[in-house]
Amino acid sequence: MTTEKTLRCVNSCGFLNSNQYEGVEVEVCPQCKGIWLSFDNLNQIIRTQRRVWTETQKAEILPQTGKTGVPQEELEQHRDCPECGELMPAFNYQYSSGIIINKCKHNHGLWLDRGELNKIQIYKEAPNNFNV
Ligand SMILES: [Zn+2]
Ligand SMILES: [Zn+2]
Repeated sequence: MTTEKTLRCVNSCGFLNSNQYEGVEVEVCPQCKGIWLSFDNLNQIIRTQRRVWTETQKAEILPQTGKTGVPQEELEQHRDCPECGELMPAFNYQYSSGIIINKCKHNHGLWLDRGELNKIQIYKEAPNNFNV
């Protein structure tokens, strides 16, 4: 892994900053707070479960999850991979989470908008979803 990467935010804010989150490397946009990370690193964060979510956070997030399909406005957002520049299709994380994220077709990584990393963790840690 190199530290010389200068990746740009998919929302055209500017450069991403390398950061650590629960022990893995993520690239964070200082402006829009979007996060670029690998699929493996996302799974590592899900397994780590270091954060403890409050009942308030769960009550806010969980009703928004558990939906299939991708809303039209998400399909129309044009986001290019920070590494290869190709369009990243929007998809519903694990088909029915209702959390819409973008993934590079060449597996360079995943783009999560502000708050989506929390949503994915809260969703995955819910008892009914943990083994999905
Ligand atoms: Zn940004
Ligand atoms: Zn790519």
